[in-house]
Amino acid sequence: MKKFWALLLSVVFVFSFGCGGGTPSDKDPDVDPKPIEVDYGNVENVKNIILLIGDGMGVDQIKAGNLFCENGLYLDGMPNKILTETASLASDETEIATDSAAAGTALATGVRTDNGLVGLSPEREQLTTIVDIAKGLCKSTGIITTEKLCGATPMTFSAHGNRDDYQDLVNSAALSGNVDLYIAEDDAADTVNYSIFTSSLAGYTAINNVDDISETSLSTKIFGLYPISADAESMTDYSFDRLVSESLEYLSKNENGFFLMAEGAHIDHGGHSNSVERMLDELLAFDLGVKVALEWAKNRNDTIVIVTADHETGGFVLGDKATKDNLFDEDEYGNAINYNWLTKTHTGADVNLYIYGMKIDYTKYSTSESANKIRNADVFTIMNSFFPQVIS
Ligand SMILES: [Zn+2]
Repeated sequence: MKKFWALLLSVVFVFSFGCGGGTPSDKDPDVDPKPIEVDYGNVENVKNIILLIGDGMGVDQIKAGNLFCENGLYLDGMPNKILTETASLASDETEIATDSAAAGTALATGVRTDNGLVGLSPEREQLTTIVDIAKGLCKSTGIITTEKLCGATPMTFSAHGNRDDYQDLVNSAALSGNVDLYIAEDDAADTVNYSIFTSSLAGYTAINNVDDISETSLSTKIFGLYPISADAESMTDYSFDRLVSESLEYLSKNENGFFLMAEGAHIDHGGHSNSVERMLDELLAFDLGVKVALEWAKNRNDTIVIVTADHETGGFVLGDKATKDNLFDEDEYGNAINYNWLTKTHTGADVNLYIYGMKIDYTKYSTSESANKIRNADVFTIMNSFFPQVIS
C-alpha cells in the first residue's frame, strides 16, 4: 500500500510541473495554451543551431511522455521525424550497445567510434567537433547539461580522451578555447576539480546567479555549476528550460550566430534504475527546454532546432493500452502491467530525431543501410551542411 501511495504521489508530482504546469484537466486554454503547432519552418540561411539531446530517451519513453501532456510532448510535435540508429563501431562486432561517449562523439563529429572514447576516432585521433566548426565561423558556442560537466555527452563536444579520465577530460574542455558557455550540475561529490576553468589558463568567469547569464556580455566566457533539478520545488531557478532560455539570450548577442548543445541527462538515469517516475520527471523537464528553444526559433527565420537521443536506456516498452490513469497499475504480484523494462543498461534500439527549420531530405545524408532511417553520425553531417562555409 505504501508503494501505491508513493506511485500515486509520483504521478501527481509529474503532473505538477510537466507540459507547462498543471494537470491536463486543470488547463485554462487562455493561460496555458496548447503546444505550438510546429511546421517545417522557413529557415533559408542558417545562423544558429540548437541541438537538444535527451540521454536515454527511447521511442517508447516519448510515447509515455505523451500520455502526460494534453497535446503530447512539444518535442514529439516537431517535424522531420525519423528513426536514427545509434550503434557504436564496436557494436557492429560484439552486439553491445553504444555508450554516451561513442554516441556523443558520433553526433558531435560525424565519426562512429568505440565505446569509451570521447572526441577520438577508433585510431585515437582527435576529431573536429561541430563546436570547433561553429567557432571557426566566429559563432558563439554553448554546452549545457543537467548532469556533471565531466559526463560523456557534454565532453564529446569539446574534449578528447577516455570517458573515465574525468579530470583529463575537464581540463581538455577548459582549454579547448572553443566554448563560450558551460553550464552543468553542481558537482557536490567533487568528482573532479573544476578550478582550471576560472584560472588564467582558461579564463572563464563563474556566474553564480542564473539571472546574470543573459546579462553577461560575449566578451566574458561563462562557467556555471548549479543544483539543476527536475524536482518541482527546486526547479524554478535551476530548471533545464530556464537555463536554456538564459543561455539563448547570452549566445544570440553574437551577430554571427551560435551553436548550443543542451542535454537532459537524467532520463538515462531513470532507465538505468528502471524508474518510470524518474524517467518521466526528467523527460517532461527536458521537453520544457525544447519548448523554449522552439518558441525562440519560431520568432526568427535563422535557427534550426534539432532534438534526438544518444541511445535508448532500459529497454522500456509501453503497453498498447497504457493511459495516464493506468500507467502505474500493477497485477496482484506487484508487477507493472502497462509497461516493462527489459534491462538496466543501454540498448541498441533506434531513437527518434526531429528537426525544426526546413523540410529535410534525409536521403542526402543517410549512411544507414535501412530505408527511412539515418545513423547518429549523419546528424553531424546535417548540422555541418547548415554551416557550409567550412570545409570539414
Ligand atoms: Zn547511461
